Amino acid sequence: MSDTKVYLLDGGSLVLDGFHVYWNRGPGGEVRFPVYSILIEHAEGRFLIDTGYDYDHVMKALAFEKPQQTKEQTIPGALAQLGLAPADIDVVFNSHFHFDHCGGNKFFPHAKKICHKLEVPQTCTPEPFEVLGYSDVSFSVEAAEARGMTDQIPEGATVENTTFEGVEGDFELAKGVKLFFTPGHSIGHYSLMVEFGTRKPILFTIDAAYTEQSLDTLNQASFHIDPVAGVKSMRRVRQLAEEHDAELMFSHDMENFKTYRTGTRFYG
Ligand SMILES: [Zn+2]
Repeated sequence: MSDTKVYLLDGGSLVLDGFHVYWNRGPGGEVRFPVYSILIEHAEGRFLIDTGYDYDHVMKALAFEKPQQTKEQTIPGALAQLGLAPADIDVVFNSHFHFDHCGGNKFFPHAKKICHKLEVPQTCTPEPFEVLGYSDVSFSVEAAEARGMTDQIPEGATVENTTFEGVEGDFELAKGVKLFFTPGHSIGHYSLMVEFGTRKPILFTIDAAYTEQSLDTLNQASFHIDPVAGVKSMRRVRQLAEEHDAELMFSHDMENFKTYRTGTRFYG
């Protein structure tokens, strides 16, 4: 644990209206926000938390989010900057399956895959208002078949190599790598805390709170399955940060993201 290193893989950016970022509060207008994945170099292996979005998918399904992604901001491109290839990743954990968190899963047919046990079933039969969020089903042959979207199945993907180990509740992925169940934004959403030997822990809110302002005002994004659970999860994230004296990092906060270490600069 003492030599755990955390790298943020910059995955480019997207645009949403302010009323989506700050539900029923706004103000409206275009908000460009970052998307990133989290690579944890750990004594027990290399863990990748989320895999960003796929540019072509967004252009096809949600072009109004105006994706900006360079080659270096694709998953293989970001890993290459660290001298790594997708084959070097041992475990992929998805916080949830909205398209901006699973678009690069296709690069990891060999890796062990873990998620909350309700997230794949939810992707198979999402609520009507969740359809765009769960629009990239390339991560799961089972989901692509259930949705009649088999055109998305990547070459070489099989039911076997896109099957997930389903978990529930809080659990420890590796020593000091803790997943906290924070539902609301999605049915099986997780936030992540990483502990180090030499610095304070980092608590990644993931999409329980897109931005620092979201958490400060307990104002979640308009994308959710249960907004009341979402508020509870935000309170829990606040409490966890306090209990563990953790540094908070937000998933879609451009202003804060500019101060985060990316590329070859790491935390640890
Ligand atoms: Zn997201």
